[in-house]
Amino acid sequence: MVASITEFSRRLMIIRVVTKDWGLPEFIPGQFAVLGLPGSAPRCDWAEREDPPADPEKLIRKAYSIASSSRTHEYLEFYVSLVTDGALTPRLFALKIGDPIWLSPKVTGMFTLNDVPEGMNVALVATGTGLAPYMSMLSTEMRCGGLRRFAVLHGAYHSWDLGYRSELLNLQHLCHNLTYVATIDRPEDEPVPWTGPVGWVQHLWQKGVIAEAWGVKPGPENTHVFLCGINAMIDEMVALLGQEGFREHSRKQPGQIHVERY
Ligand SMILES: Cc1cc2nc3c(=O)[nH]c(=O)nc-3n(C[C@H](O)[C@H](O)[C@H](O)COP(=O)(O)OP(=O)(O)OC[C@H]3O[C@@H](n4cnc5c(N)ncnc54)[C@H](O)[C@@H]3O)c2cc1C
Repeated sequence: MVASITEFSRRLMIIRVVTKDWGLPEFIPGQFAVLGLPGSAPRCDWAEREDPPADPEKLIRKAYSIASSSRTHEYLEFYVSLVTDGALTPRLFALKIGDPIWLSPKVTGMFTLNDVPEGMNVALVATGTGLAPYMSMLSTEMRCGGLRRFAVLHGAYHSWDLGYRSELLNLQHLCHNLTYVATIDRPEDEPVPWTGPVGWVQHLWQKGVIAEAWGVKPGPENTHVFLCGINAMIDEMVALLGQEGFREHSRKQPGQIHVERY
């Protein structure tokens, strides 16, 4: 059932889910669970209307990366954006605290820090809600002040789409081995002028913001890069990284680029 909802805007929220009669599934940070609601569940008013579902009791199920720490056994947290003509998200945005929601008993996914060798730094690049798996990784696996450097590059349309910004700014303040840089690409919409970087998140990489913060250039010999979010960013980053000698990672062919496409 839904334990809490934090809305950043009408299109972006953090939702926490608890289980009633069974324990929360175990998971590795970076993995995803499946959430589901029946077609009969109401849609939020600000989403587009849809034709009535053929079978209203059939569950609509979609994958969502877990944003909470795997050490938190109290709830699972998800960071969700509304797709106004979508099947599931308009129903998720109509939920209230205490409402029932289907949660997969199993959590899966290969997008984890498990295959990153010790001694390698980690660059986490996301657009929008692609930040979710990184929040779980950082809150579970980053040793604050440790030798492994972490960088989070986050891109969104507006400043109000930068969820988890205060947590990340606080973490950066406390942990000298974490760098956090956010960029927005529609500064003209900001009522309060945005003073941070403007443009796409891949431009942050090209500008060398990580090298500047770390004092060492991230390369395949010292860094693994994680990419999560929309395809356009992932494709462009994979091409950019390829030119710098990075290779996509798979269990058969180890590399330094890890990809999760939404
Ligand atoms: C491994 C994995 C993890 C994921 N984790 C998250 C997460 O943490 N948070 C999250 O918000 N989403 C996440 N997603 C995406 C999520 O599974 C759904 O696809 C998304 O929420 C849209 O669902 P929907 O039923 O509302 O829309 P659909 O009915 O699936 O889509 C309706 C239309 O919108 C388009 N569309 C689908 N998704 C998006 C999108 N994200 N942005 C813009 N247009 C879209 C579709 O192409 C289609 O045309 C993840 C996906 C995968 C595969």
